[in-house]
Amino acid sequence: MDRPDLRETNVFKEFLRLSSEIGSDILKTQGAGGNTSIKDDGVMWVKASGTWLAKAEAEDIMVPVVVDPLVSALRDGDPRAEKSTDFIVSELNSSGLRPSIETSFHAAIKNPVVAHYHCVNAIALAVLENRDIELAHRMRTVADLTWVTIPYRRPGTPLAKEIEKAAASRPDVLILFNHGIIVCGDTLEEVADRIERVTKALAGVTRETISPDLATLDAIAEGSGFHPARDHDSHAVALSEVNRAIALGGSLYPDHVIFLGTEIGVLQDGQSAADFQAALHNEGRDVPKMLIVPDKGVLLSSSLTAGGEVMARCLAEVVGRIPSESNVVYLSESDEYELTNWEAEQYRQALDRGSARQRA
Ligand SMILES: [Zn+2]
Repeated sequence: MDRPDLRETNVFKEFLRLSSEIGSDILKTQGAGGNTSIKDDGVMWVKASGTWLAKAEAEDIMVPVVVDPLVSALRDGDPRAEKSTDFIVSELNSSGLRPSIETSFHAAIKNPVVAHYHCVNAIALAVLENRDIELAHRMRTVADLTWVTIPYRRPGTPLAKEIEKAAASRPDVLILFNHGIIVCGDTLEEVADRIERVTKALAGVTRETISPDLATLDAIAEGSGFHPARDHDSHAVALSEVNRAIALGGSLYPDHVIFLGTEIGVLQDGQSAADFQAALHNEGRDVPKMLIVPDKGVLLSSSLTAGGEVMARCLAEVVGRIPSESNVVYLSESDEYELTNWEAEQYRQALDRGSARQRA
């Protein structure tokens, strides 16, 4: 293969720098969420699945895939577009990692530079019933940028197909309902500038809350598989009646469901986390990973990884920006089902493909 190696260039260094910048801003990226890509000579470098954008400069987390065959697969309904692993340029893939599950939409976007992240300001607007009006109002301040909205679809090929349709008009910004945002451009500078301006345009005010009561939370958590959220600002979900009502109304975006599940527990006055757990066990029900102790704070399951814990912070940032009395559009039960059974779905498809190959 005679491809020039983009990784040796300053452009690639800049790409990694922008990636880690996006990944280091908690208001843009939480845990392994978000992904960036850069296309060059038919090859796209995209963040690896499960890795943290924040580590883009410190670790080898970009995976090379061939663009055109992947886009054709997406258009043709070829199931290999879902994981995109069959489109990896193996001889360049130094990390040996798999590309992000969101790789196919990066490929479908025509611009060379694409940044997708879970901007809490964008999500807080993109879950409102009147989101079209609200977003149009905010985006008026960046009137030189073209933008579109994308209806909610499960990440992977369902979302990529919607984005592929919208990509034909080459929008600069795509706002994904109940999910996040995509900012694209021809150069890294252009994308960095657009991110800054769009972030400003969408910025919302966070509702004030009382402070968490960590001593009481410690006492309530004792002897249970829960601990008070370690991140101070994560507690805000529990510290205002409006925040609690919005958070308990349903699931707002996919990463919350994938990491924290569809249920948030609420402790009654005087109830300990251990009692709450025991009561659910007796009823044969699953114990949620996140518990709200009204006006005290948030307890998180000790089974959560760092990537799961940070989802509590994301929820706090999103619900805190949704104005009280807003009508919120939550994910439907079938959306939730799709997300919670996603692994099984992928596994089944993998098995299917395996058996098809054996037959071939
Ligand atoms: Zn995403």
